[in-house]
Amino acid sequence: MEDITLNTPKLFDLTGRVGLVTGSGSGIGQRIAMGLAQCGADVALLDRRTDDGLAQTAEFVAAAGRKSLKISADVTSGEALAEAVARTEAELGPLTLALNAAGIANANACEEMEEAQYQTLMDINMKGVWLSCQAEARAMLAHGKGGSIVNIASMSGVIVNRGLMQVHYNASKAGVIHMSKSMAMEWVDRGIRVNSISPGYTATPMNTRPEMVHQTREFESQTPMQRMATVDEMVGPAVFLLSDASSFCTGVDLLVDGGFCCW
Ligand code: NAD
Repeated sequence: MEDITLNTPKLFDLTGRVGLVTGSGSGIGQRIAMGLAQCGADVALLDRRTDDGLAQTAEFVAAAGRKSLKISADVTSGEALAEAVARTEAELGPLTLALNAAGIANANACEEMEEAQYQTLMDINMKGVWLSCQAEARAMLAHGKGGSIVNIASMSGVIVNRGLMQVHYNASKAGVIHMSKSMAMEWVDRGIRVNSISPGYTATPMNTRPEMVHQTREFESQTPMQRMATVDEMVGPAVFLLSDASSFCTGVDLLVDGGFCCW
């Protein structure tokens, strides 16, 4: 039987697509931006950091034979995001892929936390994702080619991490998961899919600092797979959700947690 409609490798092919990745100067966002380029996408790299993180990502993208655009911006500014999307479209082409990974984490006992600590984290982790999606979707709706948006949430939006005092972080990630589902439904009939990925403990600068060695061992032993994820292990799920391989998925939260949420 000849079936010419099925071409599985092509489902994951992003050749000719243009993506924007927030938080692409480090960790999960950086690695996913690199992975998108390897699948054929040109990528706008957005981060607020001023060290060489974005340059490293851009170098990798160039070595993969794709174009990139480095954008220094803060996801708490809707104006900066609108400008970033406009520059992306002017220099790379119509935006159809977006991966929002910019985020921060910190901890403090709930009864001791100052309002400013709570608010700063919420502004980045939750409002920043909303503003990013808004700017990206406005462009996708305007050019009419549709698009796929993936937000990096966390298993902390599903469970409460044992021993970590971070009510604001956990709440922000639960917010990202539900916001993604809500946006998925608002745009479902206009060609935009929105999904989220909820990583478990992942070895990134966020939690591999030397002073965290003890905590890192705890993270590993609490995870059914007995280890943390590598950043590379977030790339496949992101390519899946951004590409045509997941064309019937919208409003999904994909847990990538080494089994953590089963226990
Ligand atoms: P990371 O610190 O390595 O990378 C985060 C990047 O986001 C940094 O480059 C940082 O400069 C950027 N960023 C932070 N605030 C920003 C802002 N206001 N504007 C623009 N850029 C900003 O951390 P990571 O571990 O790669 O985290 C990426 C995402 O994954 C975060 O949303 C985090 O909450 C989530 N996550 C991480 C883990 C983990 O174990 N590392 C687990 C679950 C979810």
